[in-house]
Amino acid sequence: MAPDLVIVGSMAFDSIKTPFGKVEKTLGGAATYASIAASLFAKPGVVSVVGKDFPEEHLEFMRNRGILTDGIEIADGKTFHWAGAYEYDMNEAHTLKTDLNVLENFSPNVPESFRDAKFVFLGNTDPRVQLSVIEQMDIENCFAALDTMNLWIRISKDTLTAAIKKVNAVFMNDAEIRMYTGTPNIVKAAKEVLKLGPEFVIVKKGEHGSLLFSEDDVFATPAYPLENVVDPTGAGDSFEGSTMGWIAKTNDTRESNLRKAMIFGTAVASFNAEQLGMSKLIEITREDVDERVELMRRITRFD
Ligand code: AMP
Repeated sequence: MAPDLVIVGSMAFDSIKTPFGKVEKTLGGAATYASIAASLFAKPGVVSVVGKDFPEEHLEFMRNRGILTDGIEIADGKTFHWAGAYEYDMNEAHTLKTDLNVLENFSPNVPESFRDAKFVFLGNTDPRVQLSVIEQMDIENCFAALDTMNLWIRISKDTLTAAIKKVNAVFMNDAEIRMYTGTPNIVKAAKEVLKLGPEFVIVKKGEHGSLLFSEDDVFATPAYPLENVVDPTGAGDSFEGSTMGWIAKTNDTRESNLRKAMIFGTAVASFNAEQLGMSKLIEITREDVDERVELMRRITRFD
């Protein structure tokens, strides 16, 4: 079966500590969060790798949500493990451990049935893997978006830049885009990334919302004002997964629709932050999301 949206990225066991709770080796990873979020809107197909220690029940769970798992390789070795901690200012994750394990030598093989998909999300993972997927897809006829993080900007910037040049949209958080461009001002930094080729740059600012830059427009949305933030892990990935899921479902890549997509992404990400790991994300329904989107409409209206 063909997916609406191909999602690439890490699949992981996450160990998370926040001022409000902790959890060891729970299901995580960029592609996991993004695909679960995207499945609220569209049919995602995941390209990733896990180790032999990855429980089959997790894959079963994903399939039950309509996620295609044919592109998930089960390799000899251990699943990627990430450990992170947050302080009271939860906008910044402090990475305590990155055990790449099977991610280290992963060479993706995009299933034949995925190759004609019209939407691709290259979630956070080694830019070498992102570029390999770009090469296997008919990228000129896709709407492709990419995300990354500080580790890859530090150790693999040239490959990352080669991937950025091929995509339509780039997601980065404020610290990452400053780091990538060496430019302290976010507006200037976004313009520098636009110059590399993408039509859109989306800057995520955690609890301060996100910005969408295109050649001659800017859109800003706040985050949903949550009283109860327990764990922001996966907020970025679930924002991106649902933004791309909405775009794929509506098959509309105009700037006006990206604005709408970001509001759906904002709503989904806000649920995700209310509980540890992905425990809340897996509970919510499309009706819950629509309700929060209506609240977003109310809090952003001023005329
Ligand atoms: P975020 O949405 O930015 O909070 O992303 C959190 C997810 O990113 C966690 O579930 C981690 O497993 C995953 N992650 C952390 N470090 C990396 C990395 N270097 N490459 C890919 N994924 C990562």
